[in-house]
Amino acid sequence: MTGFGGYYDAVVAGAGPAGSAAARHLVQSGARVLLLEEHRKVGSPVHCSGLVTPRTLEEANVETDLVLHKVSGARIYSPSGNELTLGDGRTRALVIDRAGLDQALASAAQRYGAHLELGAKVTAIESKGTGLHVIVERHSGTSTVTTKLLIGADGAHSRVARLAGLDGPKERVIGLGAEGTLSNVDEEHVQVFVGRSLAPGWFGWTIPLGNGRVRLGLGTSGHWKPVDGLKRLMEAFPEHFKGWVPSQWTGGTIPLWSRRQTVADNIMLVGDAAGQVKPTSGGGIYPGLVGGRLAAQTAIQALSKSDLSRKSLANYPRAWGKALGYEFQKGADLRSVYTSLNDGDFERLVRLFGNKRLLRLINREGDIDFPGGMFQRLTKLAPILWMFVRGPLRYASLWKQ
Ligand SMILES: Cc1cc2nc3c(=O)[nH]c(=O)nc-3n(C[C@H](O)[C@H](O)[C@H](O)COP(=O)(O)OP(=O)(O)OC[C@H]3O[C@@H](n4cnc5c(N)ncnc54)[C@H](O)[C@@H]3O)c2cc1C
Repeated sequence: MTGFGGYYDAVVAGAGPAGSAAARHLVQSGARVLLLEEHRKVGSPVHCSGLVTPRTLEEANVETDLVLHKVSGARIYSPSGNELTLGDGRTRALVIDRAGLDQALASAAQRYGAHLELGAKVTAIESKGTGLHVIVERHSGTSTVTTKLLIGADGAHSRVARLAGLDGPKERVIGLGAEGTLSNVDEEHVQVFVGRSLAPGWFGWTIPLGNGRVRLGLGTSGHWKPVDGLKRLMEAFPEHFKGWVPSQWTGGTIPLWSRRQTVADNIMLVGDAAGQVKPTSGGGIYPGLVGGRLAAQTAIQALSKSDLSRKSLANYPRAWGKALGYEFQKGADLRSVYTSLNDGDFERLVRLFGNKRLLRLINREGDIDFPGGMFQRLTKLAPILWMFVRGPLRYASLWKQ
């Protein structure tokens, strides 16, 4: 049986930010696109804290006002409670309505001509001549769609990646998040709690939403449970979490970036499915939007040549690598340094970064989307930072221009 009108130039699996961005850029160039979302509502359930840079909303290019709150800096806490305050009053990040972003992006794709099908899950693929048959499950039954290209934008546990035999992420962080109210909220700053004893391999966070509301959470890597970490964090910082009343819980997997294949014959991966997630912070909205745009650009060229082979699609990972790959490699190296630190190191680092010259540099040039180059500049001002970079990490990309 053939559903959704039969043939499409491209089928996009997943109407998250990366998938909807890819779909919109494709239809804007004249392609016939089917956007499939397994849930019955775009953007729901939310697995995200919705903290983004202004650059992210420029890339998203949607008209809806999604900004709930503005943040001008961060307070970083060592395990013993020493504090480092970053920021100089300028807006650094925006807290957004994440479900609203997904809906606005999917609507934009539809407006330009993409066909959006909700409650439609990609479950299998079959090679068919120079194209593919995509098997889609819905409540009403199973449908088969014929296409030249399948874009897997189906998130951290991408089925499309598995079906295409493309490798998954080397490392996943498990995040637990919640929204609610606290008695004392610093409305200007995000709070970040670091330490091996509190959040092994990751960190805890609170993000102000205005009017005493916050989004908070904690991530861990390895076998640690974030729920235990969050409990420990709240016990260790009772003043910061006083009066906590949760109204909504969320959680999910963060597939950290590592170098991997993102194309196969007739298949491309974007967003979390491609591991386009910042290794330092887990932010995936901005890189996923960039991934969606760049994948669409390559796809348009490949469709015009009627060559959807892996070789022809390889322009996409090259373009993504040019845009963000170097930054992500540096981020991955920074993460390796981060995971090698013990609680004593975190105490020393929080004190060390209190140095006025270092703070001035971070406040002047710090960029949440592009933190990779900062380390080298910081070590020039404070060579003592080398002390925290051990063994083979000393030869990593961090130190190259
Ligand atoms: C706790 C937590 C907090 C986070 N906070 C932030 C943050 O503050 N800022 C930030 O930038 N990033 C954050 N992230 C990361 C961010 O949420 C993701 O990187 C981002 O959502 C990736 O977008 P995407 O479009 O690739 O995938 P997703 O947003 O996961 O979208 C994938 C879509 O595909 C659909 N789907 C899945 N399988 C199929 C299928 N087989 N067929 C059809 N549809 C399918 C899903 O229903 C979903 O709608 C956070 C992540 C977690 C877990």
